[in-house]
Amino acid sequence: MPHPLKPATVLAQALTPDTPHSAEIIPATHISTTYERDTDNQYRTGLSYGRPHNPSTQHTEQLLAHLEDGSDALLFGSGMAAATAVFQALQPGDHVIAPQVMYWSLRNWLLGMASDWGLIVSFVDISDEQSIEQAAQTDNTKLIWIETPSNPMWEITDIRFVANIAQQCGAKLVVDSTVSTPILTKPLSLGADIVMHSATKYLNGHTDVLAGALVCQQQDGFWQRICDVRSHLGGIISPRDAAMLMRGMRTLHLRVRECCQSALIIAQHFEQHSAIKAVLYPGLVSHPQHILATKQMQGGFGGMLSIRLKNGEDAAIKAAAKVKLWKRATSLGGVESLIEHRASVEGENTPVPLDLLRLSVGVEDVDDLIADLEQALS
Ligand code: PLP
Repeated sequence: MPHPLKPATVLAQALTPDTPHSAEIIPATHISTTYERDTDNQYRTGLSYGRPHNPSTQHTEQLLAHLEDGSDALLFGSGMAAATAVFQALQPGDHVIAPQVMYWSLRNWLLGMASDWGLIVSFVDISDEQSIEQAAQTDNTKLIWIETPSNPMWEITDIRFVANIAQQCGAKLVVDSTVSTPILTKPLSLGADIVMHSATKYLNGHTDVLAGALVCQQQDGFWQRICDVRSHLGGIISPRDAAMLMRGMRTLHLRVRECCQSALIIAQHFEQHSAIKAVLYPGLVSHPQHILATKQMQGGFGGMLSIRLKNGEDAAIKAAAKVKLWKRATSLGGVESLIEHRASVEGENTPVPLDLLRLSVGVEDVDDLIADLEQALS
């Protein structure tokens, strides 16, 4: 081709492998769990056993690495399996920095099992640049974890700024970019070392596959340790799910664009609503980091927003009970719109305000979504 292909073209054709013998358009799903050795005792295909190697998984990984401008990618059986593999590649006694408000299940794991195992975790207000700088220890900080936009307050972290701090103290920067997707933000090009996705969300987009992904800038020793963690602990994705994920990704660009447009319209519509105290969405000019979001997110601000109700927790739970079209369910990034009283999911020690409802905007007609929310808030 005369120029590098644009993401829409790469996704729609999904890097279809060159298979002249079958002329197939859709790649076959490889389900074998083992591979035969050559007679001279070698594995010339590079494939030996299903835990470390599978062609269907590798095919989807290549597509993801390409989209993120990375050098390699690994798929896992869930986003949590991907995230925890990164921390498990560290050593007991290593110091890591993570946001105070982040995906709650990972925060709980860091507070519990990861700390029991010997990781030293500092939770910082990630929107306060000074507090990240103060937490960073040149002799022992090995990893900084950020999530942008962050769940469920949708704060934006300046990836380039944190990448500089990470570089100064010799730490790796890992970005959970689940909500932004490679369509809106490419963290590796802003200085991150690894980008993580819960591929369960936008990448798959159809609420029928649990998957996680990591993409690296460089295949260094740390990346090799992560590969070993996946291979030894077995947190892999099944080949069928890898193929399903590939199918979902082929429309990623269309879905993300639609979700962004509708989310912005919904955020603007409800910003001045009499029942609502605040709408949290990086696309709103009133969002404290709107300018940073316009620089860091290209083509939209994501499909996730939260609303805070003036009449508190009870009003929020009642409004969620009254929707007819939005589904009351946890998760995000599917074609169907979801609504959730987030504090009920996160439990007692949640930093999330009790009056907050989290909205994952799907691809339904935006007028229908607005009308349903209006009647639920009335
Ligand atoms: N990161 C974010 C931002 C998420 O929203 C989630 C799940 O909701 C995860 C990670 C974990 O992903 P999974 O549920 O695929 O394990």
